[in-house]
Amino acid sequence: MVKNLCEKFVMFDNFLENQYGIMQELNESQTVDNNRQWHPNFLKYTNFIVNHPNYQGLFYERDKEERVKWVVAGKSEKGQKRRLWWNEQCEKYGIKIEAGAYAKIALMIHPTKKHTCQICGQELSIEYIYPNKRTITAIKKEFGISVAPFSKDIFQLVEELVKDEEDVIKIKHIFNIKSSEETITTHNINTYLQQHFVDNYAKSFLSPGAMSNSPDRFDGFHSDGACCRHESDKGRHKSNLQRYGQDRRAYENWADGNWKKADRLMSLFRKHNLSADHIGPISLGFCHRPKFQPLTKAENAAKNNRMSFNDVKILLDDEKNEQVVSWHSKFIWDKLKNKVTNDKDAITLSELMRKNLHHILIIFSMIDERGHGVFLEQFLNPHYSFFDYEFEGFDEKTGNYKAVREIKKIGKNQANNSERYYRISFDVLKDYREKENRKTKIWDNVQVDTALEALFRLLEAKKNEEAKYQLENVFQMLADLAASNW
Ligand SMILES: [Zn+2]
Repeated sequence: MVKNLCEKFVMFDNFLENQYGIMQELNESQTVDNNRQWHPNFLKYTNFIVNHPNYQGLFYERDKEERVKWVVAGKSEKGQKRRLWWNEQCEKYGIKIEAGAYAKIALMIHPTKKHTCQICGQELSIEYIYPNKRTITAIKKEFGISVAPFSKDIFQLVEELVKDEEDVIKIKHIFNIKSSEETITTHNINTYLQQHFVDNYAKSFLSPGAMSNSPDRFDGFHSDGACCRHESDKGRHKSNLQRYGQDRRAYENWADGNWKKADRLMSLFRKHNLSADHIGPISLGFCHRPKFQPLTKAENAAKNNRMSFNDVKILLDDEKNEQVVSWHSKFIWDKLKNKVTNDKDAITLSELMRKNLHHILIIFSMIDERGHGVFLEQFLNPHYSFFDYEFEGFDEKTGNYKAVREIKKIGKNQANNSERYYRISFDVLKDYREKENRKTKIWDNVQVDTALEALFRLLEAKKNEEAKYQLENVFQMLADLAASNW
């Protein structure tokens, strides 16, 4: 009887979780936005925009904290109100209401043409002025310089790069402009690009700093700028999991550590409206372990995956008693951890570790792509899903607790969780496979390439232990390479 009841509960729990998952998916754009972290610049931006005469009459409300409810669901009643307003604007400015009309009108009436990113607070133009991937590659080919995406617009680049008529020819190559267009000179090249490319939304060459999204978002643009679009896509998934109190990043970064215990402690922070700061960020290769320092949401956002000197000191101290860094990132950490003597060093180390983890995940994706996913499974820790934890005496000032009780759990939820953990970990590797830059020079080092080939041969021969050892060799080589950049 008791057993039966338990099973029922598990089933019910499971049912709720599934229902919740679906609901969450559907309501994403309506509800999540005001729960997300807002960069202070974004807060300023929303107030500036709703008060600007160009948006007079466009529907909005404010939440309890007086923040603008920036997002409504397009199909809801509120969404319809906004849609009507946008339709009126289209009529007023003579834009035919058809696909793409809202994008045009949102750009047209925007008072500054500068959008502020909700996540990082950066201002980017909403005009088509940033070279896209293709154009960045072409610029590299013609001028031999690397341009970081959305770091500079095309006019800034022309200003920097075009000195004489030969440079104009290079620009013509980049934009596939016929060489017979002889009227283009150093003097009128900007006007030409403006008229033929920027004003024409020349998607195949240029991108805007924010994608259009009317009528859901008040200003008609996605809240996250192009600077953070990819990050926030992840964030969206993350918010799904946060409903269950899980931190997706632990799976995505193949982090070691008792993630279940860490997740449970994290939700305790959340309950107290605190942001749980991983002293060593997961995205740099550190463990997802049940120790955090309490930060306000703003402080945690500002930290942005960078360690301070103090963080490094805490980690070195903690390391005397427990594992702080995931096995794959131990090589770089051990190589460089004692070189850090100030905040600047700590940032350098953060950047090198971030890049290193990127390399590690690329290698995992190569292994998976060659059909050796099973080899990788030994580096995951699904067994943690079969435990639960209750903390006692949580102190919100320090983030410490007095005691923790471990509860063994066996149920369908736990099995589902474990499956989800596998799936997310391997999905990330599939994403990596699609990344363009993976095909070209990554670490740009022949020894690493050779060592990898040896690893793949061992995997083919199903020599697990030797393959593991060889993989560690590769990570050591990458750590040595990183150290040479110190
Ligand atoms: Zn951003």
